[in-house]
Amino acid sequence: MSKSTPSNSGLRVNPEAFYEPLFDSAGEGILLVDQKGDIVLANSRMTQLFGYTKEEFRGSNVSILIPAEIRERHHGHMQTYFSNPHARSMGKGLNLAAERKDGTQFPVEISLNHFENNGESFAIALVTDITQRKKDHDKILELNELLERKVKERTEQLAESQRLYSAIARNFPEGTINVFDRDLNYIFVEGKELYKLGVTNEILMGSNYLDRLPKEVGDKVKTYLDEVFEGISCTFQVEINNNYYELDAVPLESSEGDIRQILVVEKNITKNKAVENEIRKALEKEKELNTLKSRFVSMASHEFRTPLGTILSSVSLIARYTSSEDQPKRDKHIDRIKHAINILTNILNDFLSLEKLEAGKVKVKSEPIDLNQFCESLINDFSGVLKNGQQIIFKCELDEMHAFLDKQMLSNAMLNLLTNASKYSDEDSTIWLTLIDSAEALMIEVKDEGIGIPEDEQHHLFERFFRAQNVTNIQGTGLGLNIVKKYVEIMGGSISFESQHGVGSVFRISFPKIG
Ligand code: ADP
Repeated sequence: MSKSTPSNSGLRVNPEAFYEPLFDSAGEGILLVDQKGDIVLANSRMTQLFGYTKEEFRGSNVSILIPAEIRERHHGHMQTYFSNPHARSMGKGLNLAAERKDGTQFPVEISLNHFENNGESFAIALVTDITQRKKDHDKILELNELLERKVKERTEQLAESQRLYSAIARNFPEGTINVFDRDLNYIFVEGKELYKLGVTNEILMGSNYLDRLPKEVGDKVKTYLDEVFEGISCTFQVEINNNYYELDAVPLESSEGDIRQILVVEKNITKNKAVENEIRKALEKEKELNTLKSRFVSMASHEFRTPLGTILSSVSLIARYTSSEDQPKRDKHIDRIKHAINILTNILNDFLSLEKLEAGKVKVKSEPIDLNQFCESLINDFSGVLKNGQQIIFKCELDEMHAFLDKQMLSNAMLNLLTNASKYSDEDSTIWLTLIDSAEALMIEVKDEGIGIPEDEQHHLFERFFRAQNVTNIQGTGLGLNIVKKYVEIMGGSISFESQHGVGSVFRISFPKIG
């Protein structure tokens, strides 16, 4: 290939002949305009763009291509351009529009240049139809807008659902909902229990769960929660400062399938536990009452036999005493029947009192009591029950002694003690009823010189159905002292005793002085 320096003389092509097809085949519209704005030349692309023929273009003013509404302004711009002609794009940043012959408009981009010929100035305009570009641009803008709207909507939805979850979690009753990371640091925590403890979730976020727990509880919790990170859900209970909590822990799998967080629902179950305990206690009480009833039935079947036998034999004997001389014999049997019925009534009364006490149905009704008077009338009523030759000696340190107690309960308790004193003593023995007024307490003592209680059995006294070995031949249920103790205690007092086998016993009930 030979090298040649380009020079006009070396050109084999006439530039005129080269420029014209180039001018016509250009993809952009090219327009040559004189200083007056008259069109001097327009290429083929211009005819396609605007619908004018080249001939129509030639000599027409460029203003025919400008939309009517801005034609006026354009004229001014053109004048300015010719006063300082230079290469530039037109209406940069503006939405330029051009008008076709048929009056329709389309968006254009125009770049301007100028040249001088024979002392005359011309402007060359390169006109590009940017309809498609603008459409694409608008489409992009529209898509962007749509995308932005969607992002905004999703963000709002997310914020809304987050608010919703937080509200649900914040109102989670009697507990908290927690999310922990692998180190058991708080990632999320909400729940009513939190606010009850005076803690806010802001304080807890990022802190370590185990730091809030006592050491032993923390160790237990960690053992369980470590397993949850291995994918094993669990439920367990812990006790913190007399509060009971149930923890439900589940792994939270990430989209990649690994477990970096766990969800722990912590519920304060103290109230449920208390109810559970109440139910358990009630059940135990129920069982105890059932045992009591069955023991009573076995005791009663034994203890009822003697008085019922007495009644039966006395009734059949009375039937035989038909003459009026037999009246003393009849009276004797009537007395025996009365006594037997009394025994039966006492057994039943004891049992009913005990059942009422056990069921918590007995309420204390305190009232002022003149103890001297009270004891005297009690002794009076009781004298008929004493064995032959038995006497009660009543001693009171003061002329007047007053108490504020439940009369019925006190009377029941004292009658029980007096009955025992008489029952477990021989005929002609003495019983002492003494009232003692000490600085701290009011005391009532019942002392006898009866059979006493064997020392090795004394620790069973006051137990239900307890009867010492030395009383097997004497009627009794083993319920009396248990009832006495309960009556005395619900009135705020206490009972104690001293006894020596074969010598006698003393039972002392005492009520502390208040204030
Ligand atoms: P009960 O007299 O019906 O057997 P209590 O509960 O009143 O039942 O008494 C329980 C037991 O305590 C009696 O069975 C008896 O062994 C003993 N006990 C109670 N009081 C006396 C007493 N004053 N003297 C001797 N033993 C007594």
